[in-house]
Amino acid sequence: KTWNQTGLTSKLLDTIKKLNYEKPMSIQAQALPTIMSGRDCIGIAKTGSGKTLAFVLPMLRHIKDQPPVVPGDGPIGLIMAPTRELVQQIHNDVKKFAKVLGVNCVPVYGGSGVAQQISELKRGAEVVVCTPGRMIDILCTSSGKISNLRRVTYLVLDEADRMFDMGFEPQITRIVQNTRPDRQTVLFSATFPRQVEILARKVLNKPVEIQV
Ligand code: AMP
Repeated sequence: KTWNQTGLTSKLLDTIKKLNYEKPMSIQAQALPTIMSGRDCIGIAKTGSGKTLAFVLPMLRHIKDQPPVVPGDGPIGLIMAPTRELVQQIHNDVKKFAKVLGVNCVPVYGGSGVAQQISELKRGAEVVVCTPGRMIDILCTSSGKISNLRRVTYLVLDEADRMFDMGFEPQITRIVQNTRPDRQTVLFSATFPRQVEILARKVLNKPVEIQV
Protein backbone atom coordinates (compact mmCIF):
# COMPACT_ATOMS: atom_id res chain seq x y z
CA LYS A 1 0.00 0.00 0.00
CA THR A 2 1.08 3.57 -0.74
CA TRP A 3 0.07 6.83 0.96
CA ASN A 4 -1.90 7.81 -2.14
CA GLN A 5 -4.22 4.85 -1.53
CA THR A 6 -5.19 6.02 1.95
CA GLY A 7 -7.61 8.76 0.87
CA LEU A 8 -5.80 11.52 2.75
CA THR A 9 -5.89 15.13 1.56
CA SER A 10 -2.94 16.68 -0.29
CA LYS A 11 -1.85 18.90 2.60
CA LEU A 12 -1.54 15.85 4.83
CA LEU A 13 0.28 13.91 2.10
CA ASP A 14 2.74 16.82 1.62
CA THR A 15 3.59 16.82 5.32
CA ILE A 16 4.02 13.03 5.30
CA LYS A 17 6.47 13.43 2.43
CA LYS A 18 8.42 16.13 4.31
CA LEU A 19 8.67 13.85 7.34
CA ASN A 20 10.14 11.13 5.07
CA TYR A 21 7.52 8.57 6.02
CA GLU A 22 7.98 6.56 2.83
CA LYS A 23 5.04 4.21 3.14
CA PRO A 24 2.26 3.54 5.64
CA MET A 25 3.14 1.15 8.44
CA SER A 26 1.01 -1.99 8.69
CA ILE A 27 -1.49 -0.62 11.23
CA GLN A 28 -1.82 2.58 9.17
CA ALA A 29 -2.38 0.69 5.90
CA GLN A 30 -5.11 -1.36 7.58
CA ALA A 31 -6.76 1.20 9.82
CA LEU A 32 -6.69 4.36 7.69
CA PRO A 33 -9.22 3.22 5.04
CA THR A 34 -11.57 1.89 7.73
CA ILE A 35 -11.41 5.00 9.88
CA MET A 36 -11.59 7.32 6.85
CA SER A 37 -14.82 5.57 5.86
CA GLY A 38 -16.36 6.79 9.11
CA ARG A 39 -16.59 3.40 10.81
CA ASP A 40 -15.75 2.91 14.47
CA CYS A 41 -12.53 0.96 14.88
CA ILE A 42 -10.74 -1.18 17.46
CA GLY A 43 -6.99 -1.39 16.82
CA ILE A 44 -4.90 -3.90 18.70
CA ALA A 45 -1.41 -2.44 18.42
CA LYS A 46 1.55 -1.53 20.61
CA THR A 47 3.61 1.64 20.92
CA GLY A 48 6.04 1.85 18.03
CA SER A 49 3.58 0.33 15.57
CA GLY A 50 2.65 3.72 14.10
CA LYS A 51 -0.80 3.67 15.72
CA THR A 52 -0.77 7.39 16.53
CA LEU A 53 -0.95 8.53 12.91
CA ALA A 54 -3.59 5.88 12.23
CA PHE A 55 -6.01 7.87 14.41
CA VAL A 56 -4.56 11.39 14.06
CA LEU A 57 -4.68 11.69 10.25
CA PRO A 58 -8.38 10.74 9.83
CA MET A 59 -9.19 13.04 12.75
CA LEU A 60 -7.60 16.02 10.98
CA ARG A 61 -9.45 15.21 7.75
CA HIS A 62 -12.71 15.01 9.74
CA ILE A 63 -12.03 18.34 11.45
CA LYS A 64 -11.43 20.11 8.14
CA ASP A 65 -14.92 19.03 7.04
CA GLN A 66 -16.51 20.83 10.02
CA PRO A 67 -17.31 24.50 10.61
CA PRO A 68 -14.38 26.21 12.39
CA VAL A 69 -14.12 26.27 16.17
CA VAL A 70 -14.77 29.70 17.69
CA PRO A 71 -14.05 30.86 21.27
CA GLY A 72 -16.62 29.24 23.55
CA ASP A 73 -16.70 26.06 21.47
CA GLY A 74 -15.18 22.88 22.81
CA PRO A 75 -13.03 20.58 20.67
CA ILE A 76 -14.18 18.48 17.69
CA GLY A 77 -11.51 15.82 18.21
CA LEU A 78 -10.89 14.46 21.70
CA ILE A 79 -8.05 12.01 22.37
CA MET A 80 -7.72 10.32 25.76
CA ALA A 81 -4.52 8.64 26.89
CA PRO A 82 -3.32 7.18 30.23
CA THR A 83 -0.25 9.31 31.04
CA ARG A 84 1.19 12.78 30.75
CA GLU A 85 4.09 11.43 28.67
CA LEU A 86 1.78 9.81 26.17
CA VAL A 87 -0.40 12.94 25.96
CA GLN A 88 2.69 15.02 25.20
CA GLN A 89 3.85 12.51 22.58
CA ILE A 90 0.48 12.48 20.81
CA HIS A 91 0.30 16.28 21.02
CA ASN A 92 3.70 16.48 19.28
CA ASP A 93 2.52 14.17 16.50
CA VAL A 94 -0.69 16.21 16.01
CA LYS A 95 1.32 19.45 15.87
CA LYS A 96 3.46 18.18 12.97
CA PHE A 97 0.31 18.06 10.84
CA ALA A 98 -2.04 20.56 12.44
CA LYS A 99 -0.17 23.79 11.76
CA VAL A 100 -0.46 23.82 7.97
CA LEU A 101 -4.16 23.02 8.35
CA GLY A 102 -4.74 25.86 10.81
CA VAL A 103 -5.83 23.40 13.48
CA ASN A 104 -5.05 24.05 17.15
CA CYS A 105 -4.33 21.32 19.66
CA VAL A 106 -4.24 21.65 23.46
CA PRO A 107 -2.62 19.06 25.74
CA VAL A 108 -4.42 18.61 29.07
CA TYR A 109 -2.79 16.55 31.84
CA GLY A 110 -2.26 16.53 35.58
CA GLY A 111 0.88 17.13 37.56
CA SER A 112 1.55 20.57 36.15
CA GLY A 113 0.02 24.04 36.21
CA VAL A 114 -3.55 24.17 35.02
CA ALA A 115 -3.61 27.90 34.17
CA GLN A 116 -2.05 27.65 30.73
CA GLN A 117 -4.20 24.66 29.80
CA ILE A 118 -7.29 26.62 30.82
CA SER A 119 -6.38 29.73 28.84
CA GLU A 120 -5.64 27.67 25.71
CA LEU A 121 -8.94 25.81 26.08
CA LYS A 122 -10.86 29.06 26.49
CA ARG A 123 -9.44 30.41 23.24
CA GLY A 124 -10.92 27.36 21.51
CA ALA A 125 -9.03 24.45 19.94
CA GLU A 126 -10.15 21.86 17.42
CA VAL A 127 -8.24 19.09 19.21
CA VAL A 128 -7.77 18.25 22.89
CA VAL A 129 -5.39 15.47 23.95
CA CYS A 130 -5.96 14.64 27.61
CA THR A 131 -5.63 12.33 30.54
CA PRO A 132 -9.18 11.55 31.72
CA GLY A 133 -8.65 12.73 35.32
CA ARG A 134 -7.47 16.26 34.53
CA MET A 135 -10.08 16.69 31.81
CA ILE A 136 -12.89 15.80 34.22
CA ASP A 137 -11.46 18.23 36.81
CA ILE A 138 -11.49 21.07 34.28
CA LEU A 139 -14.95 20.26 32.92
CA CYS A 140 -16.47 19.97 36.41
CA THR A 141 -14.91 22.96 38.16
CA SER A 142 -15.93 25.32 35.37
CA SER A 143 -19.45 24.01 34.71
CA GLY A 144 -18.79 24.32 30.97
CA LYS A 145 -17.22 27.78 30.97
CA ILE A 146 -13.68 26.65 30.14
CA SER A 147 -14.51 23.90 27.71
CA ASN A 148 -17.30 21.50 26.83
CA LEU A 149 -17.73 18.32 24.83
CA ARG A 150 -20.82 19.30 22.84
CA ARG A 151 -18.95 19.39 19.52
CA VAL A 152 -16.94 16.19 19.98
CA THR A 153 -17.61 14.01 16.94
CA TYR A 154 -14.27 12.21 16.81
CA LEU A 155 -13.22 10.40 19.97
CA VAL A 156 -10.07 8.35 20.57
CA LEU A 157 -9.25 6.07 23.50
CA ASP A 158 -5.53 5.33 23.22
CA GLU A 159 -3.88 2.57 25.25
CA ALA A 160 -7.28 1.62 26.62
CA ASP A 161 -5.89 -1.35 28.56
CA ARG A 162 -3.48 0.90 30.48
CA MET A 163 -6.20 3.47 31.17
CA PHE A 164 -8.29 0.63 32.58
CA ASP A 165 -5.39 -0.66 34.74
CA MET A 166 -4.92 2.86 36.12
CA GLY A 167 -8.55 3.00 37.22
CA PHE A 168 -9.74 5.61 34.71
CA GLU A 169 -12.88 3.74 33.67
CA PRO A 170 -15.37 5.95 35.60
CA GLN A 171 -13.79 9.12 34.19
CA ILE A 172 -13.76 7.71 30.67
CA THR A 173 -17.41 6.72 30.89
CA ARG A 174 -18.35 10.17 32.13
CA ILE A 175 -16.45 11.94 29.39
CA VAL A 176 -17.91 9.69 26.70
CA GLN A 177 -21.45 10.35 27.94
CA ASN A 178 -20.94 14.07 27.38
CA THR A 179 -19.82 13.77 23.77
CA ARG A 180 -22.19 13.60 20.82
CA PRO A 181 -23.97 10.27 20.31
CA ASP A 182 -23.34 10.48 16.54
CA ARG A 183 -19.56 10.67 17.02
CA GLN A 184 -16.98 8.37 15.42
CA THR A 185 -15.00 6.44 18.03
CA VAL A 186 -11.63 4.75 17.74
CA LEU A 187 -10.08 2.58 20.45
CA PHE A 188 -6.47 1.42 20.52
CA SER A 189 -5.10 -1.09 22.98
CA ALA A 190 -1.96 -3.23 23.21
CA THR A 191 -3.99 -6.08 24.70
CA PHE A 192 -7.70 -6.82 24.63
CA PRO A 193 -8.75 -8.23 28.02
CA ARG A 194 -12.39 -8.84 28.87
CA GLN A 195 -12.87 -5.51 30.73
CA VAL A 196 -11.64 -3.54 27.74
CA GLU A 197 -13.96 -5.54 25.51
CA ILE A 198 -16.90 -4.61 27.76
CA LEU A 199 -15.87 -0.95 27.67
CA ALA A 200 -15.50 -1.11 23.88
CA ARG A 201 -18.97 -2.59 23.52
CA LYS A 202 -20.43 0.32 25.50
CA VAL A 203 -18.54 3.06 23.70
CA LEU A 204 -18.18 1.91 20.08
CA ASN A 205 -20.83 1.31 17.45
CA LYS A 206 -20.35 -1.81 15.29
CA PRO A 207 -16.55 -1.44 15.31
CA VAL A 208 -14.21 -2.97 12.75
CA GLU A 209 -11.44 -4.85 14.56
CA ILE A 210 -7.87 -4.57 13.30
CA GLN A 211 -4.84 -6.37 14.66
CA VAL A 212 -1.16 -6.05 13.74
P1 AMP B 1 3.73 5.33 17.35
O1 AMP B 1 3.55 3.83 17.46
O2 AMP B 1 2.51 5.98 16.85
O3 AMP B 1 4.23 5.92 18.62
O4 AMP B 1 4.84 5.61 16.20
C1 AMP B 1 6.16 5.14 16.30
C2 AMP B 1 7.16 6.02 15.52
O5 AMP B 1 7.07 5.79 14.11
C3 AMP B 1 6.96 7.51 15.71
O6 AMP B 1 8.22 8.08 16.01
C4 AMP B 1 6.49 8.01 14.36
O7 AMP B 1 6.93 9.32 14.11
C5 AMP B 1 7.04 7.02 13.39
N1 AMP B 1 6.21 6.77 12.20
C6 AMP B 1 4.88 6.79 12.15
N2 AMP B 1 4.42 6.47 10.92
C7 AMP B 1 5.51 6.21 10.17
C8 AMP B 1 5.73 5.80 8.79
N3 AMP B 1 4.70 5.56 7.99
N4 AMP B 1 6.99 5.63 8.38
C9 AMP B 1 8.03 5.84 9.19
N5 AMP B 1 7.92 6.22 10.48
C10 AMP B 1 6.67 6.40 10.99
